[in-house]
Amino acid sequence: MAPSGPSSARRRCRRCLYWIPVLFISIIVCWSYYAYVIQLCIVTMENIGEKVLCMIAYHFCVLLFAWSYWKTIFTLPMNPSKEYHLSYSDKEVLEREPRGESQQDVLRRLAKDLPVYTRTMSGAIRYCDRCQLVKPDRCHHCSVCDKCILKMDHHCPWVNNCVGFSNYKFFLLFLAYSLLYCLFIVATDLQYFIKFWTNGLPDTQAKFHIMFLFFAAAMFSVSLSSLFGYHCWLVCKNRSTLEAFRAPVFRHGTDKNGFSLGFGKNLRQVFGDEKKYWLLPVFTSLGDGCSFPTCLVNQDPEQAPSPTGTSAPTKSIENHPFPAKPLRESQSHLLTDPHPWNENNGRNEKRNVGMSNPALTIENET
Ligand SMILES: [Zn+2]
Ligand SMILES: [Zn+2]
Repeated sequence: MAPSGPSSARRRCRRCLYWIPVLFISIIVCWSYYAYVIQLCIVTMENIGEKVLCMIAYHFCVLLFAWSYWKTIFTLPMNPSKEYHLSYSDKEVLEREPRGESQQDVLRRLAKDLPVYTRTMSGAIRYCDRCQLVKPDRCHHCSVCDKCILKMDHHCPWVNNCVGFSNYKFFLLFLAYSLLYCLFIVATDLQYFIKFWTNGLPDTQAKFHIMFLFFAAAMFSVSLSSLFGYHCWLVCKNRSTLEAFRAPVFRHGTDKNGFSLGFGKNLRQVFGDEKKYWLLPVFTSLGDGCSFPTCLVNQDPEQAPSPTGTSAPTKSIENHPFPAKPLRESQSHLLTDPHPWNENNGRNEKRNVGMSNPALTIENET
């Protein structure tokens, strides 16, 4: 169906507006470059050694920051591969089937050969009727991108991109290097900031740049450190932001730690096996983004292992031998939020399978 003129113009206009937060950050970074390099280092600093050291260290920080920011913005999110999409004949069958259980039978047959272990709250196969595909584990439909995104974390307005499997490492490095950038400015600007208030600076426009630079860097440091800390915790637990709000549902129930393989393996899943690439924004994440090793049993370290090692249905891709124990209901009260992401839940799921369901909300960042 060809898009109509006015609606496609509206869409283009909306796409332009989405770039405003990126433009805002870029302007602030450009100004901070001018304020730090020209006004602080060149105009204000008198000690030549301090000047050179600050310039070298500053350019190192700003380069890593800009590189990781660029990669987060311009790395396309990955979408499910062809085998998850319904064939033309499958779509026809699905449309012919009456809604409800028989449609699920069709989807179950289609998903039989796919490494799909997560289900909806009602136990149904996760199906996206916008993209007409069986959703791989950890994949969610983003309403802004209007696509299913592999291991979707959230749609981030500050990078105007979906943060998911393809760029999650870049996003983490972007947070880390922007925090480093701000902390470096705070540390080296502090003595001049104090001089500003004690009238120790010459009366030029440089002193105002120095003051505002300190305020801006300190303010961003606070918000970035909390966001970065939260994402470090998510990496350790092997959860996406969406999964932190609603635990993934497996065939036998919800399990917030369903994808956690232990600290070391969780870290390597995002950063890769080779430590020399960990701090560089180059893609080294493990896996294909469609399937993830799982442990069916709850791996919560706070919970003592169950002594009863009966047969747990094994569905681990890596076949981790875990002691069996009953799954624990691990949803938090936050999960009662009706629209944390585009997942039909409860009885609505069956009713809505095969129907267009664009109504969804996206986890927004502060
Ligand atoms: Zn979709
Ligand atoms: Zn998105």
